[in-house]
Amino acid sequence: MSGTTKSPWIMHYDASSCNGCDIEVLACLTPVYDVERFGVINTGDPKQADIFLITGAVNDQNKEVVKQLYDQMPEPKVVVAVGICACSGGIFRDCYNIIGGVDKIIPVDVYVPGCAARPEAIIDGVVKGLDVLEKKRLKLREKEGKK
Ligand code: SF4
Repeated sequence: MSGTTKSPWIMHYDASSCNGCDIEVLACLTPVYDVERFGVINTGDPKQADIFLITGAVNDQNKEVVKQLYDQMPEPKVVVAVGICACSGGIFRDCYNIIGGVDKIIPVDVYVPGCAARPEAIIDGVVKGLDVLEKKRLKLREKEGKK
């Protein structure tokens, strides 16, 4: 995290969550947890997002949306699956319309377990995501021949 050069911008998307994990994501932004004090900004624009925070499992209806949002994000980017549904399908995994966890559609870098995932775990997942983001950023610079 020491080499981070800008505030991480996060995009949150609810795939098919029961909203339990979404409430915990919002809790991270309240004065109690106040994740913005670390420079984390919540954006609805994939073109400005570094970290894709997803709650809920993927299904036939949202799989294209998840893919499109991911594709619109600039490189380097990180995906954080929040809650057991996003990690593996969770309690909904055997439902007729559920494909499974987010990694069935796009690559996931950090898995945050829990039902619902606790705000402390989500913040920890974002911090882990920042490390991954920095490594990807360095790799990209090497590839482009920059230091
Ligand atoms: S992990 Fe639990 S709280 Fe989160 S979306 Fe799934 S069922 Fe809801």
